[in-house]
Amino acid sequence: MGLRTYSRAVALVTGGASGIGRALSHELAHRGATVVLADLQDQEAEAGAEAIRRAGGSARAEHLEVADTHAFESLVAEVFAREGRLDYVFNNAGIGVGGLFEHQTAEDFSRIVAVNLTGVLNGVRAVWPRFLAQGFGHVVNTASVAGLTATPFASTYAMTKHAVVGLSRALRSEGERRGVRVSALCPGAIRTPILTGGVFGAIRAPVTADRLLTWWERLRPMDPRDFARAALDRVARNEGIIIIPRWMELVMRVMALSPALGEWLARQQIADAEKNYPEIFEPPR
Ligand code: NAD
Repeated sequence: MGLRTYSRAVALVTGGASGIGRALSHELAHRGATVVLADLQDQEAEAGAEAIRRAGGSARAEHLEVADTHAFESLVAEVFAREGRLDYVFNNAGIGVGGLFEHQTAEDFSRIVAVNLTGVLNGVRAVWPRFLAQGFGHVVNTASVAGLTATPFASTYAMTKHAVVGLSRALRSEGERRGVRVSALCPGAIRTPILTGGVFGAIRAPVTADRLLTWWERLRPMDPRDFARAALDRVARNEGIIIIPRWMELVMRVMALSPALGEWLARQQIADAEKNYPEIFEPPR
């Protein structure tokens, strides 16, 4: 017994129905893992699992609300009962809330904490004692570069992602001597529905999806499949903080040395928005 990379491994991927989670699920299955795609979006998760099976892989879809502690616990118990093991949990489900802080609602605050933070905690809590008992396991939490630096127009999102980075760093040291690995994925911009709010997120400004996408283009959004390949290579190397793409990693490393640079870049983003995207400063209609 021991962690499998990735042939004959068992992996649970939350947010597996769309974007990064779907791409991670496909790539895991392509590399020989059995994958459970867990999501609120049942049809899309089932379509993802079906596509994996058609390509010769092993996958199934399960309904999961990550904010529901008991539901997460039951799903993990069911996976252990059925598969006899779990190698990876990808706590990847997340939502975005974009817009100035004063335009976000109290409901936005509680929902983003429930999904992006409690959802990750629930995932860790459900697997942690079992990973310790089996003597192996890898927790991979999807944070963001917004968890590493100042991110205007995404304050509460950045708050949750900083928390996920902090949790992952602490747990990595707690798990290390007991065979349990912990990594935080920090994607830059990846071309997925979240860029324009996603199904469950919100953009609290009267900015159109087209305008938002042109705004994101400056960060050259990456194809989720390329992201998944690079991410799994680096998870296999047990890296702690995995920043992708590489050019963004370089920017983050320089910023870590000089926090003033991060503040300067955030100021540039605000100035650029004032000039080119003034609607971002208006309340949502
Ligand atoms: P996405 O919207 O394509 O996928 C998110 C998935 O999570 C969806 O399938 C959605 O149904 C699911 N989900 C949302 N709330 C859920 C809940 N309560 N319970 C279960 N499932 C839920 O977005 P994505 O870009 O693939 O996002 C995946 C992760 O990557 C998120 O944590 C996001 O914050 C993070 N991220 C994305 C980017 C990017 O540029 N796309 C950058 C940094 C970080």
